[in-house]
Amino acid sequence: SLIVPCYNEQDNVRAFYDAAVNAFLGCGYEYELVMVNDGSRDNTGIELKKLFYEKREETPITIVQFSRNFGKEAAMYAGFCNAKGDYIAVMDADLQDDVHAIEQMVDLYLQGKDVVYGVRSSRKKDTFFKKFTAEGFYKIMQAMGVDIVFNHADYRLMSKTVLDALSEYKEVNLFLRG
Ligand code: UDP
Ligand code: MG
Repeated sequence: SLIVPCYNEQDNVRAFYDAAVNAFLGCGYEYELVMVNDGSRDNTGIELKKLFYEKREETPITIVQFSRNFGKEAAMYAGFCNAKGDYIAVMDADLQDDVHAIEQMVDLYLQGKDVVYGVRSSRKKDTFFKKFTAEGFYKIMQAMGVDIVFNHADYRLMSKTVLDALSEYKEVNLFLRG
């Protein structure tokens, strides 16, 4: 199951679908998409519905619509709750994640890994502000003793076993990278 949190992504939804499906078709996976509209202010919800009605014969798609913006963590979690696959991967709708990295993630899953983290190989395309704040975040967390993978992303794979374990936590304020 591929989980896709979407906030104000009206121009990206379709390009995302094409890129993801092309990558998966090449690998021969059986897959579904779970796309979560996190209370977007633009036409993301409408674009997702159009995609659903157009593509439902070729790709199983579940659309989750939030009543307002709850944030990416909540959107990912709603995706987990609606996933039917043996394992899930989370990918951003804006195509900033390399869709082809999924293949390596799946290989590692098939070798028995329950969690596979996507880690940034470069921040060359980030603005100075983004790089400074993002890397600063990890450095401060590490300085405070938090065991966190440096520069990793929400782009990750998790097995059903992990999702089941996660569902036993009752936290309301999620921090899935932790
Ligand atoms: N997103 C979301 N809810 C939000 C903000 C973002 O679901 O409140 C989604 C967004 O549509 C994208 C992903 O989370 O698919 C990452 O968001 P963004 O590109 O803004 O973050 P960055 O690239 O800076 O990590
Ligand atoms: Mg982004």
